[in-house]
Amino acid sequence: MAVTSTDPTFTSAPPLDAVVDHAPILLAAFDLDGIYTLAEGRGLALAGLTRDALIGRGVTEVFGERIQVLEALDAVRSGASRHFTLDLLGIHWDVRITPLLTAGVVLGGLLVATDITESIHVRHALEAEIRVRQRRELELLQLASIDGLTGLPNRDELTRLLQRSADNARDAGTGLTVAFVDLDNFKVINDSLGHAIGDEVLQVIADRLRLTAHPDDVVARFASDEFVVVSHGPSKDQADVVTRSLTAALAPAVRIAGNEVFVTGSIGLASSPPYDAATLLRNADAAMYRAKDRGRDRVETFDQALEADAFTALLLRTELHHALERDEFVLHYQPVVDLGTGRLNGMEALIRWNHPERGLVPPLAFIPAAEESGFIVEMGAWVLHEACRQAAEWPAPLHVAVNLSVRQLADDDIVATVAHALAISGLDPGRLVLEVTESALMANAESAVGYLIDLKHLGVQLAIDDFGTGYSSLVYLKRMPVDIIKIDRSFVDGLGTDPEDTAIVESVVSLAHAVGVKTVAEGVETQRQFDALCALGCDFGQGYLWSRPVPDDALAPLLDPSFSTEVR
Ligand code: C2E
Ligand code: CA
Ligand code: CA
Repeated sequence: MAVTSTDPTFTSAPPLDAVVDHAPILLAAFDLDGIYTLAEGRGLALAGLTRDALIGRGVTEVFGERIQVLEALDAVRSGASRHFTLDLLGIHWDVRITPLLTAGVVLGGLLVATDITESIHVRHALEAEIRVRQRRELELLQLASIDGLTGLPNRDELTRLLQRSADNARDAGTGLTVAFVDLDNFKVINDSLGHAIGDEVLQVIADRLRLTAHPDDVVARFASDEFVVVSHGPSKDQADVVTRSLTAALAPAVRIAGNEVFVTGSIGLASSPPYDAATLLRNADAAMYRAKDRGRDRVETFDQALEADAFTALLLRTELHHALERDEFVLHYQPVVDLGTGRLNGMEALIRWNHPERGLVPPLAFIPAAEESGFIVEMGAWVLHEACRQAAEWPAPLHVAVNLSVRQLADDDIVATVAHALAISGLDPGRLVLEVTESALMANAESAVGYLIDLKHLGVQLAIDDFGTGYSSLVYLKRMPVDIIKIDRSFVDGLGTDPEDTAIVESVVSLAHAVGVKTVAEGVETQRQFDALCALGCDFGQGYLWSRPVPDDALAPLLDPSFSTEVR
């Protein structure tokens, strides 16, 4: 730094630039455009920055786009100073931003930030302030239902505010637009940069949404990375205005502690009429999902087509309940074959809906709706009872495999339900295999492990389904009481032709065997795949090569001991 002293009394003291270099401060000057021209001090490193990284960059580079910093830049331009404290990644900063003046003309500004984390006095004061703030926040939370992280109204408060706005709009005969904003891939930001940065990003986005919104708009945090903006005015125009301001709020990169984060959002719009808060939110949410489906980072508006979809989903849910009462569900069974002996090892139970008009409906057409509405828990209990009842009539030790969904795995009664199905049917617990997908496990890994251990105590076997399609659960594999891995069809597909698939299956098989786990290959359709699986030492196979899933009255030939010779 080019600051030297010619005063002889200072000769024994360390040079000023050495002091600046070691003081826990960050000193930076910026020009009227808010571009840094100078940066010094140990504070730079504390904030995760370097001099070179800062000079030539914008004023928000140091503390991100905090409202105080943006506001101070404006203040400096008109010759005013600002003083505030803020927390960044665990450090308390005391920040002063003052104009740099020459002959009364503002040339730029000076930012002096001091790390006051260690200062006892300040810490005590801060703690006292934090206590006061926490108490105030708590009061606010109770009274006004404010979201603690962003200071925005939370979901409950939003619902109240939205209903009030909707009532007013109906009375006044004006429009109302609800925008549902869901940040894309926010989990990636959290996972790669850490939750502290993730939180800062949410704060910046919240601030920007508040800044770009009209003062009369309601901006709320709906859930973790979901925001809702409610604005007044004629629907059509309003939708354009909202779209523009939301796009403006999300477009610029968010700069935090030397990171540059690009955030995009999927946005769903819905307008009044209707004038009911729950319906408006549901419509905007549905439009947001369409934005996600159509590739994210875009805006979709709720329309007739979505309305029809929502209606179908509702109908489907009602119909599903009736289906159970009317006994319209049936189980089909698909053989699992021992690749070493060619003998039948067991069957996987796969549900179908015998619909009076639509015929046999495949599970993927109704399981997502059943899952979403929670009906899957009831339906799953039926599957467990039915599968155990039928399997009890098969020759031992043939097993029956039953699929469990995410919701079932999170259900407090799951252990009791399985125990009940075993008790009523009299099926030996060792002959029941419960299949849980890798993604279901990851979705609620913590609670799932608890229930899986309890289930395991009943004596059943556990299988990880669709292995390889989730986010590697190899770490969990060690912690979970797993007996079987079912290698997903997508890897079995290229066996014997695609070297990559072959290598993946080979490593899964050897890894499973290393921890005492058996492997089943799913979706085996060709002799070539079969040969490759035998060569790789895979234990079991399942697929059209042996049999499609068949109804129970077609099981007899499969259960016949001569079955094994048929397949080899
Ligand atoms: P999954 O558990 O992976 O079941 C295997 C699926 O692959 C079955 O489809 C089966 O018919 C199909 N499959 C078997 N072999 C072959 C083959 O060689 N080639 C091809 N292309 N496909 C093959 P399905 O019966 O349509 O079931 C689809 C999914 O629905 C199941 O996938 C499972 O996730 C779910 N599901 C089925 N029944 C139930 C149930 O009772 N409860 C729950 N929670 N989910 C179920
Ligand atoms: Ca399965
Ligand atoms: Ca599977």
